[in-house]
Amino acid sequence: MLARWFQSRTRFARFIILLAVTIGGIGPLTHVPSAQAYVLENVYPAQWTGIRLYEGSIATAIEKQGFESGVTAWTNSGAGVSFTYWGSTSGAEITVKTYSANDGNEAVTYINLTSTICNGWQQTNNAAIQLNDLNIQSYGVGRVQSVAAHELGHALGLDHNTGAVIMNTDGKARYVTYGVTTPQTDDVNGVKAIKSRCGAP
Ligand SMILES: [Zn+2]
Repeated sequence: MLARWFQSRTRFARFIILLAVTIGGIGPLTHVPSAQAYVLENVYPAQWTGIRLYEGSIATAIEKQGFESGVTAWTNSGAGVSFTYWGSTSGAEITVKTYSANDGNEAVTYINLTSTICNGWQQTNNAAIQLNDLNIQSYGVGRVQSVAAHELGHALGLDHNTGAVIMNTDGKARYVTYGVTTPQTDDVNGVKAIKSRCGAP
């Protein structure tokens, strides 16, 4: 089982923080930059419609609202993805909760992968999104949405990017500089590109 960590930094962040932990002799994952602007994680979810999403404990009503707005933003993005709110962690493909830590991150997403590999691509077993209440509790709904939509992008298979896209790893640049709260054309094109890989649905 592999796990990858994707962290979105609030401050001083320029570079991807990405750790690959390997167990069972499977080599570290590397992502191959595509010719397009988007960057792919080389993972894909089990399905694109009705993705089962479990909401655990979320610290504030604004954080919950912002997260759900991020979900809606992807549903309305044109990428052909949709979500079903699920009642338990059992069978959930994406989980979300808040944590609180002085780690400089707005959020972290842990992606657990199946052991099935196709030309370097792996299917996601589940993705665990954790929003850092300590660093986002002062945010309004729109900025939480920007964070949430970014983390959901990881869950869908998108890696970090720069500029006016939801996958910009720098949360301040993404929201304050570029005003991005929804998946942009490049983000959507990234998801569409994943769909043709390795029998991904
Ligand atoms: Zn990220």
